[in-house]
Amino acid sequence: MSEKLHLTGFSKTELAEFAEKIGEPKYRAKQIFKGLHERRLLSFDEMTDLPKAFREKLNETAVASILKVESRYVSEDGTRRFLMKTPDNFPVETVFIPTENRDTICFSSQSGCPLKCDFCLTAKLGLLRNLTAGEIVEQIIIVLNDVYGTGAETPHGTNLVAMGAGEPFLNFDNLIKSLEIMSDEEGLFIVPNRVTVSTAGIVPKIYEFAKLEKRPNLAISLSAPNDELRDKLMPINKRWNVEELLAAAKEFEKTLRRGERFTFEYVLLGGVNDSEAHARALANLVHKYELQKVKINLIPHNSADPLEYHPPSFRQVERFKNLLESKGVSAYVRRARGRDIYAACGQLAAKDGMNKTVGSSSWQEKTDCLLPTAAAAD
Ligand code: SF4
Repeated sequence: MSEKLHLTGFSKTELAEFAEKIGEPKYRAKQIFKGLHERRLLSFDEMTDLPKAFREKLNETAVASILKVESRYVSEDGTRRFLMKTPDNFPVETVFIPTENRDTICFSSQSGCPLKCDFCLTAKLGLLRNLTAGEIVEQIIIVLNDVYGTGAETPHGTNLVAMGAGEPFLNFDNLIKSLEIMSDEEGLFIVPNRVTVSTAGIVPKIYEFAKLEKRPNLAISLSAPNDELRDKLMPINKRWNVEELLAAAKEFEKTLRRGERFTFEYVLLGGVNDSEAHARALANLVHKYELQKVKINLIPHNSADPLEYHPPSFRQVERFKNLLESKGVSAYVRRARGRDIYAACGQLAAKDGMNKTVGSSSWQEKTDCLLPTAAAAD
């Protein structure tokens, strides 16, 4: 681990304190912040508006970048998947998903994940560690620079989704700090309503999240309409069951402003949770809790060895969606993106069969990076 300070994860206040500590005027903090976040420069040497002596001083005590891009893959649909490593050698995965109207970056909040969702391959890794705020922000900067070029303006409408590896609400403080840094108008300026945080159901944090003044959008991964099935698919349900989760969702809904909605994510697993009875039970749940501002994102499971699950048929997905809609519940089917580079939701990263490799490292060399992602695309 680098002993130097990773300034990319510093708030403006912390940067001001840092500047003071190294005997520099406070305005240096603003210059560093702009260099890192507005111009997206991940090296102090590139901040040529700063005096050379100051840059040298910065290099002695601090770094702008600590993540190393190990591999980068580009799908035939334009999706890009990045495998990065922290200085202590933990994997971090980030996915860029282009669409006609807006681009989405799906980032990781943890390396690995402690939750044991049965349909997700990140679960097999267990928790390696929480990512720092700086590591979260740097993921985004690396991807933006790769896609748009260093220093180029971030296109308005770039969305962020905390749906990569990890449970964001188990790294709550770092997540919120990173989002605050990224929302600054003198920096990346990615405002909270362009950000969605997805939780597997850490109920107390849903209440805490609801109280935030500048709050991103919320998605709750539900994937089963009853405790019996959810206990099996998402063991976090044994800690906070469907009733407690829906009660928290109801409370969260009360805090939404006009026109705002939240999401239930529902991974459709063929023959497991995709029957008409499940769709009916799901609609009943929405009605029981009188949820008016919820939409359901249906995510057909992406098959990935060695998991036992398989995707439902196209017809089954349509049936499920239609049944929800016939009961007055908004439902959307989420298109899988980047399947060919294993960037789609829940796919295994380390396996043979890559058909596109860009960058210096080959996929086959990277079989130690067992990272799936939960890349989202509406
Ligand atoms: S689905 Fe999300 S919360 Fe569940 S194990 Fe995978 S990464 Fe963790």
